[in-house]
Amino acid sequence: MSFSETLLRAHVRTFAPYTSARDEFTGRAEVFLDANENPFDNGLNRYPDPHQHALKARIAAIKGVDIQHLFLGNGSDECIDLLFRACTDPGTDHAVLLPPTYGMYGVSAALNAVRVREVALSPDFQPDVEAILAGMEPGAKLLFLCSPNNPSGNAFDSDRVEALLRSFPGLVVVDEAYVDFSSQSSWIHRLKEFPNLVVLQTFSKAWGLAGIRLGMAFAHPRLIAALDAIKPPYNLSALTQQAALKALEMPERIREQVQLLLAEREQLATALRNLPQVEMVYPSDANFLLVKIADARTVYEHLLTQAIVVRDRSRVRLCEGCLRITVGTPTENMRLVAALQG
Ligand SMILES: *Cc1c(COP(=O)(O)O)cnc(C)c1O
Repeated sequence: MSFSETLLRAHVRTFAPYTSARDEFTGRAEVFLDANENPFDNGLNRYPDPHQHALKARIAAIKGVDIQHLFLGNGSDECIDLLFRACTDPGTDHAVLLPPTYGMYGVSAALNAVRVREVALSPDFQPDVEAILAGMEPGAKLLFLCSPNNPSGNAFDSDRVEALLRSFPGLVVVDEAYVDFSSQSSWIHRLKEFPNLVVLQTFSKAWGLAGIRLGMAFAHPRLIAALDAIKPPYNLSALTQQAALKALEMPERIREQVQLLLAEREQLATALRNLPQVEMVYPSDANFLLVKIADARTVYEHLLTQAIVVRDRSRVRLCEGCLRITVGTPTENMRLVAALQG
């Protein structure tokens, strides 16, 4: 299926990107006097590869997708912002968000002066497909589906996601920040079926590299080309690219950590369910648990006195009275449960 140019803002369709010094020659080069760098080698004196060839090739191979389907950003947060800038005209277009969900979609919309239409998730935290499609207005350019969803932790029914991919007139962004912890498979394997599908993944969660800021967007090559055209030329530092390449050399270590965290998640859920003040531990496909608890704010503050920080979501719609608790190391999880018992 082909990509509709109308998914892009008019000026982005023909946008002429900044061309960096290293883009402007072809051939063999030994002496680089083109970019006003300091010539003395310290390992970092040169600008990084603006196209991130080596890193993209590695990620594409590991993920089993063609490299033209892959964009790399300074965290998923940069990918989200660039999607707004590529696709939504302030004033006329809007994004559809399904609260309760990740806060950055709304922040990026506000920063880009793009209107938001909110359609709440159902009480079991699934997208209300009928309500989303029934209330469709002109200018609906982006729909964000966070699956597994932050803060509820569940993955969305694939039938619902597919129905939205088939009927939503704009881009459908499936944010898979937590997909490595989920029993559901990734949507990156369906890219060729849906030209309006964007999948976001990140190195910040399972990969253990929140500090390097590296996010991935998988989409139709035309959209990837547009994101490449509008990104800041050197959006990924040399340090980021090096650290990611190094981590990708030992994927089995990450798989082991994920297995351990999944086992810990189930143990922690059981321990929490046995506490008298805990009313509900929601099922999780992620590395955190949404926990409904009596006097959530008081519990939050009690945990702080024990030097334990969790996320207070007790005033978020559909999460009333809930704390969001990340699965930590076995020792950290025991300390949390002990603090809740005390
Ligand atoms: C943590 C998280 C991210 C990660 O964002 P980065 O900018 O890549 O660190 C993205 N989406 C969701 C839903 C998250 O919870």
